[in-house]
Amino acid sequence: MLRAAVSAAAMAGIDAARDDLIADSAPMQLNICYKCGCGEGTSIMNMKTTGPFDYVIVGGGTAGCLLANRLSADRNNTVLLLEAGGKDDWIWIHIPVGYLYCIGNPRTDWCYKTEPDPGLNGRSILYARGRVLGGSSSINAMLYLRGQQRDYDEWARRTGDSGWSWQGVLPIFKKSEDHWRGADEFHGGRTLDETAGHEWRVETQRLSWEILDAFRDAALEAGIAKVEDFNRGDNAGSSKFEVNQRRGVRVNSSKAFLRPAMQRPNLTVITGAQVKRLRLDGRRVLGVEFLRGNEEVFAAAGRETLLASGSIGSPQILQLSGIGPGALLQRHGIAVAHDLPVGENLQDHLQLRMAFRVQNVLTLNTMANSWWGKAKMALEYALHRTGPLTMAPSQLGAFLKSDPAQPTPNLEFHVQPLSLDKFGDPLHAFPAFTASVCNLRPASRGYVRIKSPDPRAYPAIMLNYLSAPEDQAIAAQSLRLARRIVLGTQTMQKYAPEEFLPGSAFQTDEELVKAAGDVGTTIFHPVGTCKMGRADDPSAVVDPQLRVRGIEGLRVIDASVMPAITSGNTNSPTLMIAERGAMMVLGNRA
Ligand SMILES: Cc1cc2nc3c(=O)[nH]c(=O)nc-3n(C[C@H](O)[C@H](O)[C@H](O)COP(=O)(O)OP(=O)(O)OC[C@H]3O[C@@H](n4cnc5c(N)ncnc54)[C@H](O)[C@@H]3O)c2cc1C
Repeated sequence: MLRAAVSAAAMAGIDAARDDLIADSAPMQLNICYKCGCGEGTSIMNMKTTGPFDYVIVGGGTAGCLLANRLSADRNNTVLLLEAGGKDDWIWIHIPVGYLYCIGNPRTDWCYKTEPDPGLNGRSILYARGRVLGGSSSINAMLYLRGQQRDYDEWARRTGDSGWSWQGVLPIFKKSEDHWRGADEFHGGRTLDETAGHEWRVETQRLSWEILDAFRDAALEAGIAKVEDFNRGDNAGSSKFEVNQRRGVRVNSSKAFLRPAMQRPNLTVITGAQVKRLRLDGRRVLGVEFLRGNEEVFAAAGRETLLASGSIGSPQILQLSGIGPGALLQRHGIAVAHDLPVGENLQDHLQLRMAFRVQNVLTLNTMANSWWGKAKMALEYALHRTGPLTMAPSQLGAFLKSDPAQPTPNLEFHVQPLSLDKFGDPLHAFPAFTASVCNLRPASRGYVRIKSPDPRAYPAIMLNYLSAPEDQAIAAQSLRLARRIVLGTQTMQKYAPEEFLPGSAFQTDEELVKAAGDVGTTIFHPVGTCKMGRADDPSAVVDPQLRVRGIEGLRVIDASVMPAITSGNTNSPTLMIAERGAMMVLGNRA
């Protein structure tokens, strides 16, 4: 139904806004540097070659766009960026609520599906990953979160590199940040003496909902403090989420980092280019082989190849190239170049979606189900770039402990003024809101493993959600906590809330774990499949400098290197990894 509202918005006067948005997203000039008539099945002998480039970056997503900017800033470096998807020139990438059109759409999403998961009572779920310039930052929920100080101090402990500690990464977060508050101890913003950096715009949201303010008051009544800022390393309490938007329009990593660099003659960007595998000479990477339509091309890398293909794409490319678990590769007839636990250690946040029917208050369900409401939303966006079309899926957040023994908050609430059965379904016809809660530091681990040597075949994505007993206990505790806030506080009584998802029938621990399996779904934060770690860590794929162990000329620089998932949303931590990764690559040239 909201989709219908959004379409109506487009028809009912959004054209003025569209002109602006298109100007923001002017088509890029692509320097396609080869012309090749060869067809499928080209052998190495007659495969077209492009380059050599100093650096070949695979994947133009969150990390890849920032890398392309930083590495091409020095005009002496030649840089090639390869992206399997297309340009980010579709209007629904830029109107915030357009994620409803982008997720699950092959134009912008790989549209993966997970393996049937016992923790989800045998369900297999859609697993969105951006397949377009900007990658997942083009289709994501735009929430700006860094995680907690403790996360990064733990990374430093696990890698032996103090540069990954909170003190080490805070200046790196600030380097690309353009925070609405301006520069201060915790935030970045361009000062008069700076000419570069600070491209990653962070703003407050441009709408509010009575029901979400009431949830925040109820959380306070339940002992959860109201706070100003989730991004000082100590997130605890409730606040409105900040978002990566500029005046009501999405900021993705392509717009922030790639477009400003597009005119540089030393940067080449090729879209529609799906990398099949790395080409190796022994243990040295020479470059990558990619498909573009029916063409097969070899792109030579003079200095380094940088995988930024995300937590699904990067392990898949490594495995297809013979770098991965030996037995898995042999099963698919791939010669083993180096036996490494690539694709293991997959971690994600599982959100448990609880929905409550309410009275005496407006929610998006009500507005999106009336023509008057739709027209009002469209007009508001067209005239002011405010209102529900600027909506991130969640506006209100809260961080808290599932039990006092936790060292720092281990739960995150995403609260939304709407309800639906599952993503892609219409909004319910009655007023309701959703309070989804996730365990920020799950112990369950999954994997990404190729199913075929064909690069076009999707790998198996197995999350094993709720397989660790402690995750089951936390799931039951978190559902009870949500009930305490919504059903157990005076504040919420005014709205007569009634839980309909998962429903009051679920009460015992066992029943609540079953309910978690029914209502649980991804919040789209896969990490860890090319984990970084010390030389003596057998589960590490890359070293603290992000170099693939035992292989020359190759790094992985994206969300897959996180040794442990951050206690928050993962996009801006991935940008931080890319920023530090670029510094490492450039430092290496000295
Ligand atoms: C629906 C959704 C909502 C989310 N909401 C939020 C949020 O609100 N806040 C937040 O902080 N995080 C959010 N995230 C998570 C965040 O967006 C990701 O953690 C982050 O984008 C990961 O960045 P990356 O560079 O590792 O991968 P990506 O951004 O996914 O980039 C990988 C790129 O590599 C390309 N690629 C893959 N394989 C190949 C290949 N073989 N050849 C060539 N190119 C290839 C892909 O097409 C893609 O463009 C969300 C994610 C999704 C999907």
